[in-house]
Amino acid sequence: MSQIFAINAGSSSLKFQLLAMPEERIIAKGIFERIGEEDTLFSLTVEGQTVKESLPGITHKQAVSYLLDTLHQKEVLGSLENITGVGHRVAHGGVHFKQSALVTPEVLRIIEELSLLAPSHNPINLQVIKAFQEFLPSVPNVAVFDTAFHQTLAPEHYLYPLPKRYYEQYGIRKYGFHGTSHKYIAYKAEEVLAQENLRIISCHLGNGASICAIRNKESVNTSMGFTPLAGVMMGSRSGDIDPAIIPFLMEQEEMSSKAIIDMLNKESGLLAVSELSNDLREIQFAYARGSSKAALAINMFVNRIAYTIAQYHLDLGGVDAIVFTAGIGENSAIIRQKITEKLVALGVHLNKEANETSQICIHALNSSIKLLVLPTNEELMIALETLELIS
Ligand code: ADP
Repeated sequence: MSQIFAINAGSSSLKFQLLAMPEERIIAKGIFERIGEEDTLFSLTVEGQTVKESLPGITHKQAVSYLLDTLHQKEVLGSLENITGVGHRVAHGGVHFKQSALVTPEVLRIIEELSLLAPSHNPINLQVIKAFQEFLPSVPNVAVFDTAFHQTLAPEHYLYPLPKRYYEQYGIRKYGFHGTSHKYIAYKAEEVLAQENLRIISCHLGNGASICAIRNKESVNTSMGFTPLAGVMMGSRSGDIDPAIIPFLMEQEEMSSKAIIDMLNKESGLLAVSELSNDLREIQFAYARGSSKAALAINMFVNRIAYTIAQYHLDLGGVDAIVFTAGIGENSAIIRQKITEKLVALGVHLNKEANETSQICIHALNSSIKLLVLPTNEELMIALETLELIS
């Protein structure tokens, strides 16, 4: 039996799954939250039983050590020799990685170099990879890049209309993110529909949100850009805005570039418009009670997603299926209904009953585009890519 860790480390969190492969069975899963703060929260689920603990503030490296010790003590791991690989979600692979990569000193060097493009993520990913190398020295690590799936974009889609020297000197171009999720959806949708060579629009709608145009399991265009701030409106991120707003505010409010970026990442989007929350569940609740701010937030969110889908309909020259995934895509019937209502001109028709009950296929019989709700599974995708590279 082969056991593979799928690791997803963020700036203050570390999510993990231990999977038995190739059966795709989850042995253990959990999360460390508030890493680097006074108390770190640790949650571990094994065989349906969840244990939660509060730990005195720890680092990412200490979290890895604690995780391995805990799994060992609980005899979840059995022998460490059962662990055959560790797959890491890595934020930025730049133009260097079109696929996942077995971690070598050279791969580590490039991930470090790319910290310039992902300063709050790549350094954390490096720390966590190095921790696993230290604690499990004989186990190979694999880097699964969030950007890799979008390396198939054509220059007309990845270049910005800016002086070329910025692209040449700093690599300023569209990279796109959520690649692991969009790739999983590309394969899963073809499997579910039992068809190949499809044109799919994948809508990953979570706290972060991005849309991806896919042809024959390759990314053609995607809404996030040079950073994950671009594209559609998100929980607390603005998505695309007029770029001239930034220097205007910097001058008027004497804001630093850090203050501006923090505002665009953490105080904008659904949170800013609803003046309530970045969590769609709370906004939906307020909307149901007649809140006009919640209605405005929902409409703006829906519009931007629908416009992007329409744009990708043009890029793909027609669409076979639109897929909704991630927290909002998988769970919010009202958001799916409102998006699809805006797409009637494309021949999209929703089966409202199927939508209300979040069935897999939610299109009406007369819809010219199929509509699917598919749970994304980035951890499984990471484990599959890891298994492939270590075998
Ligand atoms: P992240 O990008 O943090 O991984 P998720 O994919 O977990 O985000 O999605 C989080 C979003 O999904 C939140 O806005 C949350 O409100 C929304 N969400 C989760 N469950 C539901 C639900 N049952 N109905 C509506 N929205 C939901």
